[in-house]
Amino acid sequence: MGYDSDYLDSSDPGSYEDKSGESEVDDAKRYKASNNCYCPNTQLEDFYLDLRFDDLKSFKHELVQFSIRKGFAFQYVKNDGTRVREKCAAKGCKWLVFCSWCSGKKMHVLKKYIAEHSCLVGTSKNRRVTGKVIANRFFDVINGMPFIKPRHLKAMVRKELGVFISDKVCRNAKAIVLRKLKKQFKEDFLVLNSYVLELKEANPESTVTVVSKRQEGLQYPIFQRIYICLIPIREGFMAGCRNIIGLDGCFLKGLVKGMILMVVGRDGNNQMFPVAWAVVENETTESWVWFIQHLSSDLRLGDGLGWSTNKVDMLMHLDRMRGLKRGTSVVEDLLENWPIEGWCCAFFNDVLKCEVIDNNMCETFNGVILEARHKAIITMFEDIRQYCITRIVVKRENTGKWKSSCGPRICARIEKERAKSGKWQVE
Ligand SMILES: [Zn+2]
Repeated sequence: MGYDSDYLDSSDPGSYEDKSGESEVDDAKRYKASNNCYCPNTQLEDFYLDLRFDDLKSFKHELVQFSIRKGFAFQYVKNDGTRVREKCAAKGCKWLVFCSWCSGKKMHVLKKYIAEHSCLVGTSKNRRVTGKVIANRFFDVINGMPFIKPRHLKAMVRKELGVFISDKVCRNAKAIVLRKLKKQFKEDFLVLNSYVLELKEANPESTVTVVSKRQEGLQYPIFQRIYICLIPIREGFMAGCRNIIGLDGCFLKGLVKGMILMVVGRDGNNQMFPVAWAVVENETTESWVWFIQHLSSDLRLGDGLGWSTNKVDMLMHLDRMRGLKRGTSVVEDLLENWPIEGWCCAFFNDVLKCEVIDNNMCETFNGVILEARHKAIITMFEDIRQYCITRIVVKRENTGKWKSSCGPRICARIEKERAKSGKWQVE
């Protein structure tokens, strides 16, 4: 690809040149209003004269994004420390932009711009879409799938940016993201102890336990496990949740291998209530035992038996029924025809303790923390903690809107049962 001439006359169509370089803005049509400073956070519709940049780096960065959005490739005509002149890479196309240092404004200013292309814009090749550009743009995607295949990444870039990239660009992009992530993951582990101390200081009496191993020849201990149960969450569970918990484990998705184990309870409105979480090296009987031991002492589960059953009460009620007129035969008849293990919660076997027969609470929580599971360890814990705390606040505020003393889900449930029981008949 070539280009015809390096410089265009300001008399060319679409060309506006600020010849003075430092002159006051005087033409409302040619120059936009007073604040022409480039803002990296807002998408630039188009370049215009007198647009100001803090440095040439941000100008070049914007130019790459702009060329991707508009679907054309550009090439440098001049690129030194103080000025950058670029033109459309298509042969014969007049599109051109020139930005250089303006000593009066103490900024880099866009001094020449020919906005119209004489080529057919819409190319799918852009050499400026480098590994770095892809790494920035698709950081979260590559972070989520560090082993993504080049063909999948290429397809994604093609779909989102409309640009074809090579395998080499894909590899570079992945390498850049992984380098950044490795650094971040390493830094997180280095300050994990400080994070634990901070958590404990902010939430006294919380259980935060870290297990690490020392290995000969290594300066730092190697992280093995961590268990977190924060005091406000634990108290919330003990005070207002049902005596049912769900346990589950899922893989960490980031660079570090390992599992996150979690306990999710059920609140008074039959919604999930995450209680505690841990990161362990692997999902094994030993790691689960370690986790449950901590949990058992935190939630004062004891041996777990009798936690959600009340056989004594049930037997007392049956005795009272026996005391009624013809009661004994009714009770015997009842127990014979409908074994108590089949209809009384207190006599259910050890597996089933309430109507929750699946582990959807945990699956839901799994889904919520999906994104966090890609992140470095402290960032992940912070995401989870913030989610749980915010959730509690939101749910507490919602209780103010309740129309009765129990939650809307419970009211609906009672209503459903009431409607069903309306068809019953006592003979
Ligand atoms: Zn062009």
